[in-house]
Amino acid sequence: MIYQPVKGTHDLFGEEMEGMRYIRDVFSATVELYSYRQIMPPVLEYTEVFSRGAGSSSDVVRKEMYTFLDKGDRSVTMRPEFTAGVVRSVVSNKLYATEDLPLKLYYCGPAFRYERPQLGRYRQFHQFGVEEIGADNARCDAECIIMAMQSLYMLGFQKLSLKINSIGDDDSRRSYRDALTKYFSAHLDEMCDDCHERIRLNPLRILDCKVAHDQEIAKGAPKIKDYLSEASEKRFYETLSIINDLGIEYEIDDSLVRGLDYYSEVVFEIHAIGANGTDYGALCGGGHYGGLVKELGGPDLAGVGYAMGMERVYGVAKEDGLLKDLDHGIDFYVIPVGEEVLDDVFNIVEEIRSLGFSCDTPLANVKLGSAFKKAERRHAKFALIIGQDELDRGVAQLKDLSTKTQKEIDLTKLEEELDHAIAPYEEEDDGCHHDHHEAVEEKKE
Ligand code: AMP
Repeated sequence: MIYQPVKGTHDLFGEEMEGMRYIRDVFSATVELYSYRQIMPPVLEYTEVFSRGAGSSSDVVRKEMYTFLDKGDRSVTMRPEFTAGVVRSVVSNKLYATEDLPLKLYYCGPAFRYERPQLGRYRQFHQFGVEEIGADNARCDAECIIMAMQSLYMLGFQKLSLKINSIGDDDSRRSYRDALTKYFSAHLDEMCDDCHERIRLNPLRILDCKVAHDQEIAKGAPKIKDYLSEASEKRFYETLSIINDLGIEYEIDDSLVRGLDYYSEVVFEIHAIGANGTDYGALCGGGHYGGLVKELGGPDLAGVGYAMGMERVYGVAKEDGLLKDLDHGIDFYVIPVGEEVLDDVFNIVEEIRSLGFSCDTPLANVKLGSAFKKAERRHAKFALIIGQDELDRGVAQLKDLSTKTQKEIDLTKLEEELDHAIAPYEEEDDGCHHDHHEAVEEKKE
């Protein structure tokens, strides 16, 4: 029996792993420019965190959660999203009292939803996202949206589509819900069973229904924009005007309500279409939330945030050719010549690593040709060849694998020699690739 990964999950390795790591690094670097700091809540939370947080009427909570009783009979859930867990963490640790507001937090990690797997949709997927908690105005909302766009531009995307809407404050949504209930009640006979449930729990959720006929009916439904309170309308247009002033294009999408219950006021999604026209769905979704912190036992603080779907960003970025040459390889591949030098070579390799250079060696006596092939496959910049004769003379042969030039170096001045050899490559790196060696050098300073 050969075991396969659980349906809807996938293994990350090789090119995809490198790509996802790079995307995470670009996103982190971007949000750190906005003074965000990382937070890592646990994967497991008590189920109530999500049922109260993400909301009992959302599809995610009703149908898609990995919930089970632990051995102490407590109902726990593997996070289907991060916002509720981050807010729970802010409340449990009283971060709102011990840190300056607004809190600016970012996260990255796996989330779990029992959905039907399809292109860009998994049961275990990864999100990178942010939460800004304790600030409540149009400028905060706008900054968050701009930061999401900026993160994707930093990756190299040229064409993004920002869809934006306001679902208003509590008053706006209350009157809108009444209008939706009235409208959908007249069509309920023709609608799916789930929508019968949705109309009872929260008629806004009907607008997310994926059944084609129900979507047709939803097209004729009242629009939230006609139910926005004066304050919500003013706030929405302030947000749009800030975004507009920065030259960022957007499309007001009055069907956009987002699937989680905690949202209020502005909500948004960012879409990108791959080079060959594939639509992976929304890369990013987010919005403002008014009542969530209080709902989870904290003070009355508002927040705004978004989550990027890492697999989707990866899919489109790869198609657009934004993830080329990510494997920078290693600095040195050390090739021992003969069984008798293995122990000494082992020690030299450790010394090279302790100097902060990445380095590998076969750890066994292999043929020269095969060792060179390994060096190439690992994209080593240099091969360092060491036989008994070299050891006796305290030297090694250093071969630049791109120029194929070879010279003898002095092993008693190893650091100086390797620094000198690698210097031209570090200049070439244009500052983007911050490797371990640079970190060690910085530490020394
Ligand atoms: P949400 O938490 O539903 O607002 O989703 C935020 C983002 O996470 C979406 O825009 C997607 O990019 C991504 N996402 C959500 N569900 C999945 C899934 N099942 N598989 C892959 N990505 C997902």
